[in-house]
Amino acid sequence: MSSYDVIIIGSGPGGYVCAIRCAQLGLKTACVEGRETLGGTCLNIGCIPSKALLHATHQLHEAEHNFEKMGLKGKSPSVDWKQMQAYKDDTIGQNTKGIEFLFKKNKIDWLKGWGSIPEAGKVKVGDQIHEAKNIVIATGSEPASLPGIEIDEDIVVSSTGALSLSKIPKKMVVIGAGVIGLEMGSVYARLGAEVTVVEYLDTITPGMDAEVQKNFQKILGKQGMKFILGAAVQGVDVKNKKATVNYKLKKDDSEATLDADVVLVATGRKPFTDGLGLSDLGIEVTQKGQVKTDDHWATTVKGVYAIGDAITGPMLAHKAEDEGMAVAEVLAGKQGHVNYGVIPGVIYTHPEVANVGRTEEQLKEDGVPYKAGKFSFMGNGRAKANFAADGFVKILAHKETDRILGAHIIGPMAGDLIHEICVAMEFGAAAQDLALTCHAHPTYSEAVREAALACGDGPIHS
Ligand code: FAD
Repeated sequence: MSSYDVIIIGSGPGGYVCAIRCAQLGLKTACVEGRETLGGTCLNIGCIPSKALLHATHQLHEAEHNFEKMGLKGKSPSVDWKQMQAYKDDTIGQNTKGIEFLFKKNKIDWLKGWGSIPEAGKVKVGDQIHEAKNIVIATGSEPASLPGIEIDEDIVVSSTGALSLSKIPKKMVVIGAGVIGLEMGSVYARLGAEVTVVEYLDTITPGMDAEVQKNFQKILGKQGMKFILGAAVQGVDVKNKKATVNYKLKKDDSEATLDADVVLVATGRKPFTDGLGLSDLGIEVTQKGQVKTDDHWATTVKGVYAIGDAITGPMLAHKAEDEGMAVAEVLAGKQGHVNYGVIPGVIYTHPEVANVGRTEEQLKEDGVPYKAGKFSFMGNGRAKANFAADGFVKILAHKETDRILGAHIIGPMAGDLIHEICVAMEFGAAAQDLALTCHAHPTYSEAVREAALACGDGPIHS
């Protein structure tokens, strides 16, 4: 039996970041992981592989649609799907091995196998029981399906199957117009699949700024994706390797079907805590199965903490990472803090979509007086040169104090541009602070400054 200051169960972005920070703060640390490789959902079957496929297919899109306009003539590349998969797998391998290296460097023990918590202060992995002053549950999440739909990871797939399809489908139906559905849908649309997205709600990307939603749907539509909104999927039948999706339109209860070679069920994810022994231990969970924690990530059992997708809040890698670092600080007797009001969300389609803070709809609902400063990428020289002028930056600031309350970007590199606004919000900045900051020309960032200027006396280039 070995004993540790901290044992973390799960090596996703929550768990591995927590382990590294614990070790850096002088705690004797181990991390349990049942998967063959470290890095969790994010590195193995989530953020990283999906971004590799998005990158490769975006290059294809550029070659097919924009190269000739720039005088780059010749045939567009043909797709070698096996090689694209190998590139994706290599990207995963480099990243997961990187975490293994960091574990060694920081003297973190990887306890290989599936862990459970037989009692507070003890973690069981295989036949071995290890002692720990504190335990952190970082076991993440798994795909959630709909009643009546069986995922076989061949014809009816979750995001995991969608990352490794044996061939590019001719027709794909995506159930759910959230982040994962739209990212994977646009990968296959760029590869030539006819992609139809069926969504229960009347808008895509539920919860996002309404203006962004509309604009985003229009742009994806221009790229060839079809949308059926306000449609409740009733079931999926599979026969002879073909699927039929049955759905009912909410507006008139009419029923219809869609044929597909592959159906991606992207209706969300649920916390994964199977096998940990939570109920025997008395650790409370919410109705949705999320581990209940207090403001310092402590569960209802002393000495056991939880972070990441396994608890409440947005299921995002960087949220899990921030909680991982913060709980490590708490365990080392320091102050751990996560500002849940400034967690950016990004969709890595082309154009990208990014947001932070409040939406106009939320501000209206809460009766907060605000002003919106908006700037279109049409007025940005760099975006025009790069065929990336679709979209806009919108900054929401308090009407009286000018303090930035939120930002919504659809456009090139939106996922990077958003961080300037995140930093500004962390410092309690006013829109005027961004507007008065010199921005290099020609950059996409100038559109952020122009949106900030639009909160005051007005932008220059519109
Ligand atoms: P996870 O990453 O899920 O890791 C949990 C780990 O715990 C797993 O490796 C699991 O094997 C292990 N584990 C579970 N139980 C046990 C046990 N009992 N014993 C041992 N090990 C155990 N988020 C973003 O921020 N940006 C993105 O671009 C993005 N893209 C995504 C794309 C896809 C297709 C998917 C599916 C998700 C994406 N996400 C993205 C979400 C992101 O992957 C998750 O929010 C993040 O991985 C959560 O981190 P975590 O540490 O809480 O858990």
